[in-house]
Amino acid sequence: MDDSHLAGDASLRPAALATPDGEGRIFAVIGRLGLRARLVMLIAVAILPLVALAATAIWFDYSESLAKARGTVLSSAQMASLQQSQIFSNSRVFLDTLRHTPGIQAGGGTDCRAVVVRLKQANPQINTIGVVDAAGMLTCHSQIETRQPYRNKALLEKMRTAPAGAFVVSDFMVGHFSGLPTLIAAMPLPSTSGAFEGLVFTGINLDALLAMNERVASEGQSLVMLDTGTGHFAARDTLLPGGYTRLLPGHPLLAAALTTGGDGVAEARGPDGEVRIYGFAPVVDARSAGIVLAVGVARDDVISPVVRRAQLAIGISTVLMVVIVGATWWFGYFMQLLPMRQLTAAADRIGAGDLETGSRIDPWQAPEFRELGAVLDGMALKLGAARRAEAALAAREAQYRLLAENSFDLVTCLDAEGTRVFASPASRELLGMEPHELLGGRPDEIACVEDRPQVKAMMQALASGATVSGVQYRVRHRAGHMVWVEVTGRPLDSGSGTVLVIRDVSRRKTIEANLEDANKRLKLLASTDGLTGLLNRRAFDEAFAREFRRSVREGSDLSLVLIDVDHFKDFNDAYGHQAGDECLREISLAFAGKLRRPADIGARYGGEELVALLPGTPLSGALEIADAMRRGVRALEIVHAGSASGTVTISLGIATLHAGKGFADGAEMLRAADIALYRAKAEGRDMVCAQSAQREGGPAVTWVAA
Ligand code: GH3
Ligand code: MG
Ligand code: MG
Repeated sequence: MDDSHLAGDASLRPAALATPDGEGRIFAVIGRLGLRARLVMLIAVAILPLVALAATAIWFDYSESLAKARGTVLSSAQMASLQQSQIFSNSRVFLDTLRHTPGIQAGGGTDCRAVVVRLKQANPQINTIGVVDAAGMLTCHSQIETRQPYRNKALLEKMRTAPAGAFVVSDFMVGHFSGLPTLIAAMPLPSTSGAFEGLVFTGINLDALLAMNERVASEGQSLVMLDTGTGHFAARDTLLPGGYTRLLPGHPLLAAALTTGGDGVAEARGPDGEVRIYGFAPVVDARSAGIVLAVGVARDDVISPVVRRAQLAIGISTVLMVVIVGATWWFGYFMQLLPMRQLTAAADRIGAGDLETGSRIDPWQAPEFRELGAVLDGMALKLGAARRAEAALAAREAQYRLLAENSFDLVTCLDAEGTRVFASPASRELLGMEPHELLGGRPDEIACVEDRPQVKAMMQALASGATVSGVQYRVRHRAGHMVWVEVTGRPLDSGSGTVLVIRDVSRRKTIEANLEDANKRLKLLASTDGLTGLLNRRAFDEAFAREFRRSVREGSDLSLVLIDVDHFKDFNDAYGHQAGDECLREISLAFAGKLRRPADIGARYGGEELVALLPGTPLSGALEIADAMRRGVRALEIVHAGSASGTVTISLGIATLHAGKGFADGAEMLRAADIALYRAKAEGRDMVCAQSAQREGGPAVTWVAA
């Protein structure tokens, strides 16, 4: 339940803690106070006025009780004093009557004694009654029968100087005969001369007096009689154990009575040692003797009910305080500290990376805490999402790095300025360079000089945000040779650079070149005749169709020369097929030798038939070329016994398209050439015949022989 842990973290302490000055120490002390301690302090401050009120009430109760006690003892003292005065005035009347009684005045004798004995019996409060003459002799006494000197010399002396009719009360004394505490009241005997004639006295039973007074005093009060003249205290034996009177000169009560000179209240230690509140009042008729009655009440008796009430009030207050503080402590824990700790723990957890647990603020907690908890939860949620995104990114990056580093392709990253910031290990194979050697360089620097413009164009395209692919150029390998590469480039999404994937396509290039070569050769093979090396029939057909269309389209001339070896069957028969093949090859060479223009096409039409296509050539030109061919073959002088000339000859048929006109289609033109050839055969062979198409819409045959 220690809530000071929040102050335990050094960062949470006030800065002044570091300085040992007074202010710093105050901060240090305050800084250690936990939330609950502060709440309790607040509550304490709030209930402080109530405590002050209770204290004031107790104080009023205390002072009122004292004041009441003072009032009570004073009135008790006054009442007792009044009663006492009554006794003394009774005594005065009694003594006044007595001193004028003739028997008494006679100065002794049996009459006097009889009177006093009778009076004594009639007044139980009177201990003794006696008469003393001017010589100080006890002449008559209620208990003493013999005449003897009066022993109370002090009274005697007082009476000698007292005015006539004075009422004098003696000091306290213990009666010689009664053995009881006694006060002697005396009056002088009447004197005609004015001289002292003697006195009458009566001993007042002090015990009875005190007992009577005690009855006047209420319960718990104690009564004491003071003789201010002598400093004697008289009280019953409960108060003065072992004697009725005690001489206590200088006693504070005495001093108070003397100082006041009348009624009053004083607090003093009684003759028995107990502290009391005394009310005192002089006995009026005994004033000459300075008799004062004091009624005291034990201070403890006055205070203890107050103390009891105060204790009760303090007890109840304490219990209430404990309950309030306990409730505050409880409230502080469950309503303040607990959610704070939950929030702190949640923040700690978030700090430690736990983003799943949440703040777990109870739904009954204050909305401020729940709001704070929700903020923390939201924060954890966002952090979690960010972390997942980061993890995904890292995984992707790792994946890409793995791919890049294990790829045969060279992967490079360029910054916004086009400078390399990353190169994968494939650079070793591709360029003979370590990846780090490529960093800081630019793509065009390693490109072959002729290809650099192309590379620069590619970089510009990338810089403008475009994606490039299949860009091929040559780069220089460290070993010196050129490497064909194909580059795919993509600007980064962030716009902070570009990724280039560079693939070595040298092998592919070689293969492609080889393939192209092979294709060409294949194409050539497909269009070439194996025996003569001329174009074959298929290639001729294609070329003828193309050239026919062109001639018609452009309105140009086109001549077709069809050639057939004469009596070749016989040649084969006579010299064998192989010799026939050799003969065909030689004729083909001679034939091809006459085709001078690049556009001229010579082909083997089939068997021992050849064909020449002469674009842009009119009939006259065709006749010349055809005849040159005929003569060329003759010039070969291949022996052919079955021939009229003794050598191998050829016959040629020509068909010509004039300004794109003359034949409806290629087949018609071919037929015309064939007819011309047939004519040449028919006319005797070793001859050129032409069918000129001069008539619109069909073959009008003009036979021309060379
Ligand atoms: P003509 O003067 O009327 O043309 O008489 P010819 O014997 O040449 O008759 P034709 O043109 O009908 O005969 C063609 C002969 O050519 C048939 C065949 O024996 C021969 N021949 C065709 N192609 C080849 C070939 O590729 N090699 C060889 N050695 N002989 C061929
Ligand atoms: Mg033939
Ligand atoms: Mg023939």
